[in-house]
Amino acid sequence: MLEVRHLSAHYGQAQALFDISFQVAKGSMVLIQGLNGAGKSTLLKSLMGLMPQVQGEIFWQGENLMGKAPHQRSHLGLGYVPEDRRLFSALTVRQNLEIAVPHTGRHLASNPAHLGLGDVLNLFPSLEGMLDRPAAQMSGGEQQMLALGRTLMTQARMLLLDEPCEGISPLLVQSIAAALARLKQDGLSLLIAEQNQTLTPLADQVLNLAGGVLSSQVVSPRLTRP
Ligand code: ATP
Repeated sequence: MLEVRHLSAHYGQAQALFDISFQVAKGSMVLIQGLNGAGKSTLLKSLMGLMPQVQGEIFWQGENLMGKAPHQRSHLGLGYVPEDRRLFSALTVRQNLEIAVPHTGRHLASNPAHLGLGDVLNLFPSLEGMLDRPAAQMSGGEQQMLALGRTLMTQARMLLLDEPCEGISPLLVQSIAAALARLKQDGLSLLIAEQNQTLTPLADQVLNLAGGVLSSQVVSPRLTRP
């Protein structure tokens, strides 16, 4: 479970997040919805340790993340896919996936929960025919699948996704939504920023962010876990 308590973040003198508190239970999907400039990306970056000025508390599986560097949060199981995806465009799909494999003992293939190339291809079958293609030669939706796959190869158990369906063709949005639903079923926790309502039907909870303030907390009644 991820627990955020009284989180604030600044860019210099400008405050971008104000006293944010919420939780993401294991195996659940929480959406952060808000307009441009609401603070969605800032929130995800704050959780990943990528914002220089953050106050408050962030607990992941009981461990306090404050003061931990991004790579330490990654080792603890957090995986972040930024809006621009940050793929290695000159590397092939296979290289982009393999480069993400951690080399510490914790992630050895003998670990029963270890997620490998086969699992990623099972989740995104269309990547299989593109393994030797440079990432630069993929559509936006295909790149999003690759970015998700790469993050899964880090053995992430909590995904922080910044607008994963933005600017993607409806067909690929369906594939991505189906993959996210499967990951949730497999026990991964998902915190997803989005501007539209694309993933709302899959969500356990929808949080609204406006002007850096979590203005309301809407629980999806149909899909709330017992
Ligand atoms: P979008 O949907 O457009 O990505 P967002 O909800 O992700 O928007 P943020 O990018 O988190 O919003 O921005 C929140 C606030 O912080 C905005 O007022 C924005 O102008 C400001 N901001 C974002 N990045 C910086 C930066 N590098 N320096 C200063 N202010 C920033």
